[in-house]
Amino acid sequence: MSYKLYIPGPINVSQKTLAAMAQPMIGHRSADFVALYNSLQPDLQNLFYTKDPVYLSTSSAWGVMEGAVRNLSRKKVLNCMNGAFSDKWNDVSRRLGRDAAALKFDWGQPVCPEAVQRELASGQYDAITLIHNETSCGCMSDLPALMSVIRQFPDVISIVDCVSSFSALPIQKDALGVDVLITGSQKALALPPGLALISVSQRALERAKNTPDRGYYFDLNEFQTNHEKGMTPSTPCIALLYALRSQLDSIKAEGLENRHARHARLNKHVRDAVSALGFTLFPREGFGSVTLNCFANSLNVDLPALNKILKTKHNFIIDGGYGKLKGKTFRISNMGDETDETMAAVTTAFASALAEAPKLP
Ligand SMILES: *Cc1c(COP(=O)(O)O)cnc(C)c1O
Repeated sequence: MSYKLYIPGPINVSQKTLAAMAQPMIGHRSADFVALYNSLQPDLQNLFYTKDPVYLSTSSAWGVMEGAVRNLSRKKVLNCMNGAFSDKWNDVSRRLGRDAAALKFDWGQPVCPEAVQRELASGQYDAITLIHNETSCGCMSDLPALMSVIRQFPDVISIVDCVSSFSALPIQKDALGVDVLITGSQKALALPPGLALISVSQRALERAKNTPDRGYYFDLNEFQTNHEKGMTPSTPCIALLYALRSQLDSIKAEGLENRHARHARLNKHVRDAVSALGFTLFPREGFGSVTLNCFANSLNVDLPALNKILKTKHNFIIDGGYGKLKGKTFRISNMGDETDETMAAVTTAFASALAEAPKLP
């Protein structure tokens, strides 16, 4: 059984990356570990476009998404919501006992900068969460426009999830003024799941220092104290750090601009090929994600049947819609290590499976 994954995470992991993970263990307080950790930093800072440190957390992205709110919101957090993950962030903020407001948009609509401006102008907030690339509906908001609004409110700490867009296009953390930028390993970085990466501004660290009840495992100041020694607060998944080291080397070898251009090109290939079969893109025009395409099931195809044909005949797995969009949309990922050849194979197989798949009554 070896299927190729074209769901928007986890995605295909290369043999090179898998082999890197199979290296012998080292102690997490050893000089070898410090050398590994410190070697990752400049390459990660390059990818984050930041001078701030990049902390590594052995958790899925949600660990640090929860942790960031816990560390940084004392007064009230504004959660911008336009899909499953951003909706969940409001639920998570409330579960932490934080005062949290919901700024809602329909799934597939981008977060609207004017609406954020109006809400923050009320002066109630000290933090805001937003998701750059809402994976559930393939919608990418205009981060530069949003950050130029948020920067007008110096008391508001910006917490941005770029879990499914990171490294596929430039997200210039420092130039945009993002305080906290969060990503995870199993999306465009094409690593196995289980590692979260978070870069935090100095002013956010200052805020965290004075926040009570921020716990231990995701305490940003614990990350900073250990970072200064080239370490993580607790024992990390060292195999994933080997994988990250290997992948950062590959990214450097390809070149960032080439990587970004490749993602844009493969994304357009899928969009064009599937649109030519008669499907329409689900998110608002101009706000489609660059790492996946979410299509409306405008041809009323039996998606579970289509996916079964794709899986059994072609060994490809795509996604049949997230949450309330199940059956109504489908998503095809183009992120990670994919090439023109691999994506062409997916769209060819998709067209062939579609010709066989039944329509819904
Ligand atoms: C996948 C994803 C997450 C959640 O990541 P986990 O690693 O499952 O915690 C959060 N936000 C976005 C936008 C995602 O795509």
